[in-house]
Amino acid sequence: MNEKTTPSKPRHVRDVSEWHKTTDVAVIGFGGAGSCAAIEAADAGSRVMIFEAASASGGSTALSSAEVYMGGNGGTRVQRECGLEDKSEDMYNYLMQAGGDFADSAKVKNYVDGSVDHFDWLVSMGAKYKNSIYNERAIMAMTDDCLLYTGSEKAWPYRDIAKPCPRGHNLEVEGDNGGPMLMGILTEQVESRDINVHYDSRALTLIVDDSNSVVGIVVRIDQQELNIKAEKGVILCAGGFVMNEEMLKKYAPSLLKASIPIGNPNDTGFGIKMGMSVGGAAINMHDGFVTLPYYPPSSLTYGILVNASGQRFINEDCYHGRVGYHCLQQPGDRIYLVFSAEDFGEYETQSYLNADIAGTGETLCELEEELGLPNGVLQNTVETYNINAAKGEDPLLHKSDEWLKPIKAPFAALDCTPGRGAFYPYFTLGGLDTLPSGEVVTSNGDVIPGLYAAGRTACGIPRTGACYSSGLSVGDATFTGRMAGKQAAKRK
Ligand SMILES: Cc1cc2nc3c(=O)[nH]c(=O)nc-3n(C[C@H](O)[C@H](O)[C@H](O)COP(=O)(O)OP(=O)(O)OC[C@H]3O[C@@H](n4cnc5c(N)ncnc54)[C@H](O)[C@@H]3O)c2cc1C
Repeated sequence: MNEKTTPSKPRHVRDVSEWHKTTDVAVIGFGGAGSCAAIEAADAGSRVMIFEAASASGGSTALSSAEVYMGGNGGTRVQRECGLEDKSEDMYNYLMQAGGDFADSAKVKNYVDGSVDHFDWLVSMGAKYKNSIYNERAIMAMTDDCLLYTGSEKAWPYRDIAKPCPRGHNLEVEGDNGGPMLMGILTEQVESRDINVHYDSRALTLIVDDSNSVVGIVVRIDQQELNIKAEKGVILCAGGFVMNEEMLKKYAPSLLKASIPIGNPNDTGFGIKMGMSVGGAAINMHDGFVTLPYYPPSSLTYGILVNASGQRFINEDCYHGRVGYHCLQQPGDRIYLVFSAEDFGEYETQSYLNADIAGTGETLCELEEELGLPNGVLQNTVETYNINAAKGEDPLLHKSDEWLKPIKAPFAALDCTPGRGAFYPYFTLGGLDTLPSGEVVTSNGDVIPGLYAAGRTACGIPRTGACYSSGLSVGDATFTGRMAGKQAAKRK
């Protein structure tokens, strides 16, 4: 019986008795990264085939809001038309800080330098962005407005490191419909070119030669394993590994404390495993995006988050992802959002949080008792917070004065404890180590000839949930897909 073909074991070219198809560039996955890689490789004159496991294009990109993080270089058309100047230096400094200890300066620089060009390219593909700003503190614009703060730019410590500027770009579409729209546009662009698309076609493993160069890919189509020759290379754009529990347990167990993995069912890490099988380094595998969507309503930002010791731990005006990440890091088994009942606002109709009311009280003592917190600590936390908030200050955690006001009776608290109902969606940020060009490298930094990766299969610009900003994943996937497509097409 033949040995099962698995992504962790490449096929050697000597075991290939027949090439069933030949192309220059084989792109694995038809989501955000794959579509952009295919378009650029085709536009550079290469023959391109896309192999997509699903029956249609889209991937997680089509499930997303398609917010794209762009700016710098003086500003995108939208930023400039809205009267905003966005310096590259500010965008670079913000992204480097937001990337944490593992930020990749070469990639960040390349992304920032190419960001306005990327905006123009998306527009040239057919993406429409209105010259407008959505001024609410929100997770996404539910109107067709474009610009939105999608990170912690205005919050401490980032506001002191780089001049804040909104860089999240939403497509001109009402509601949360950006993802299907973007993928519709990119799919049309692929279809308008001489790109050979194969749906229901799962890539199984890479094909390598004696020098460990990648020369093709094994794909299963109609129950048959086909050997595809890729004369210039294979671009892995197969998403991340958030749907692979075994890989999560092995690489990113802390993410399992969050509640819902989000992505498409093929986010199983096959692309990453294929890259690893030929010596590609997998980096940053422990980190991921996780969020606690406690706004809208934005009025809940006037509240404070406390842990099982009744202590605050984050400035609550940060982006919801940064807050969610820090909630998961807290010791103890309780996280509460404590607020004035008057700030409950439109929680029941607007919120995605799904957190239950854990307690209410006319006094802090009553609330504390109901929440089962150690005697006096919540009272102390709120009283200290209130004294400073009344002066427009937060010496402890530096919440901006825009969101500071004393918390008044009647008091209420939402139960944001992980595992007790609150919505904590997550996805992975680790992947194959690549150069800014998309070439996959080994742990020594050597390029693996013929192998490229982009989007969530690679480890790109977003590196940590500790300061993720929305728009960095679709931004990174579409941008790095383009880089990899161009680079593969250049290969002799
Ligand atoms: C609900 C939701 C909202 C989000 N909102 C945003 C947002 O607004 N902005 C933002 O920046 N990020 C957002 N994200 C994250 C972002 O959507 C993804 O990280 C990004 O789109 C990934 O793009 P990709 O091209 O790497 O992967 P995908 O778009 O997932 O494409 C990967 C493709 O590869 C295919 N595939 C997988 N394995 C194989 C195989 N072995 N053979 C062949 N094909 C295979 C898959 O079927 C899929 O079509 C959101 C995510 C979700 C789930």
